[in-house]
Amino acid sequence: MTDTWLPFCIKRPGPLNKRGYDGIPTRTLAEVEGEVKHSMEGYMAGAEGRLMAPLTSDPYTQASWHISVPKLGPPVQYYPLEATCWHAGLPGDRRFDTSLVGNLTLIGEEHEDAPTNVLNADQIHWSSEISKAVRSLCPRVAAKPPALGVNLWEHRMLSATSCPSGLIPWPTILAALKEEEMTQAEFNKMFLEAAKSLKYPARDDAGKETSGGHTAAQWAEAAHLARKEIIAHAASLHAGGAVDIEAIVAEIQRRLAD
Ligand SMILES: [Zn+2]
Repeated sequence: MTDTWLPFCIKRPGPLNKRGYDGIPTRTLAEVEGEVKHSMEGYMAGAEGRLMAPLTSDPYTQASWHISVPKLGPPVQYYPLEATCWHAGLPGDRRFDTSLVGNLTLIGEEHEDAPTNVLNADQIHWSSEISKAVRSLCPRVAAKPPALGVNLWEHRMLSATSCPSGLIPWPTILAALKEEEMTQAEFNKMFLEAAKSLKYPARDDAGKETSGGHTAAQWAEAAHLARKEIIAHAASLHAGGAVDIEAIVAEIQRRLAD
C-alpha cells in the first residue's frame, strides 16, 4: 500500500486514529472517485486545532479531512490521499449509512473562509492545483471531464449539513482544469515535432533499405513542392487538365533523391 502526499503541500500528519472510516483505513488511488471542497466555517487555526485534537466521543473531535487550503501560504496535507477520512457526513458523523460513499471514495479539502467568506486568488490557484494532481493520480477521476456532481462536490450535495455551499468559485476552477486538456495548437506543435523525428527508410531500386532516409516532415515538404510544380506544369499544358498522380510521386522521389 502506498501513501501519497502531494509535493506542493506542507505535510503535517494528523492523529492516526482519525484515519479509517468504519474500520476501513485505506483505499487505493484507483478507488478514489473525486473530491469534496468544503468551507471551514472559520479560521485555519481553529480548524487545524480541531483536526489535531485527540479523538473522543465528542463529535467535534471526530472530523478529519485530507487537505486544508488556508488564506495564506500553500495547502497543508494531514493524511495521504489513500486514507479514508470522516469529512463527508454530518458534522462529526461516523455513521456508515449517511456518509458511506463520500468518506470511502472522496478526498476532503477544507477551505479557510473566515473572515471574508470569499476565496482569495491563492486559494483558487491551490484548490485547482490539488484537483489537477488528483486527476493525474486517480484514473477514475480522470476518466470523466471535471464536473460538479461527477467528480467534484460540495458537502451539501452529499448530506444535509451546516457546512455552507457557495464559497467555491466552480466556473473558475473548472476552467483551470479544462485548460489542462491539450489544445489543437499544442497538438499540432507536438505532431510537427514527431514528424521531424520520424524516419522513413530509403530504398534502392531493388527495394532494399539503404543508409539514406528522410523524416516525415521532409516527405511532406517534398510532396507539397512536387504537387505545386506539377499542377503548374499541367496548367501550362492545358488549362484545367487533370493532375497525374504518378508524375507527382516521381517528382517527390526525384526531390528526395537530391
Ligand atoms: Zn463540510
